[in-house]
Amino acid sequence: MNTSLSSPLHTLQSDITRYALDAGRKPQDIHLIAVSKTVAAERIIPFLEEGHCLFGENYVQEAQGKWPALKETYPDTQLHLIGPLQSNKVKAALGVFDVIHSLDRPSLAKALAKEIEASGKSPRLFIQVNTGEEPQKGGVSPMQADEFIKACRSDYGLTIKGLMCVPPFDEPPSPHFALLSQIARRNGLNELSMGMSGDYPQAIRLGATYIRVGTALFGAR
Ligand SMILES: *Cc1c(COP(=O)(O)O)cnc(C)c1O
Repeated sequence: MNTSLSSPLHTLQSDITRYALDAGRKPQDIHLIAVSKTVAAERIIPFLEEGHCLFGENYVQEAQGKWPALKETYPDTQLHLIGPLQSNKVKAALGVFDVIHSLDRPSLAKALAKEIEASGKSPRLFIQVNTGEEPQKGGVSPMQADEFIKACRSDYGLTIKGLMCVPPFDEPPSPHFALLSQIARRNGLNELSMGMSGDYPQAIRLGATYIRVGTALFGAR
């Protein structure tokens, strides 16, 4: 028996394919980020062995502890920072992360531009939009998104790949995904990081190109 056929990764990938086809989309346009926050390296290795390359972490320090060794063994790994980033952790973050999903304010844009210049690194950048305008959550407000995207490009010389959001947990997610997609479209951005274990089917229907799934792959945290 081929155990990989029944692995959580394989099951999720078949579900993603089905939801993509139902939405009239190409399954290969939807990239799965396996969110491994709080998950120990031993439990991540089977996913790497299965050939999975995209992983997400929320904390710079946790990633610094787990990923340098894993990346050495699995050099195709692409690590995504999906949690908030403090400006004074930018250097550390770019040391381990390939993609940042939480760019949300001018001071961070400035710190990233400076470190990109100094290090010669070219992380892919997503701007986080606080679609629910929740005070405790990161992200630029939807009203200020256009202006911030423009400032990132022209004032800080950053290349922005796309937008990211985390809808309020007690609201239907679809209006938030639709809003993110609308902001992306009018700003010429093609990548949308949206959808988690509980709402990725809706995110796929509304155009997600990166979904961030933890619990459905690794179990409850
Ligand atoms: C933890 C987290 C996820 C994964 O959430 P699950 O519900 O476990 O799939 C996705 N995105 C962000 C920003 C997260 O913090």
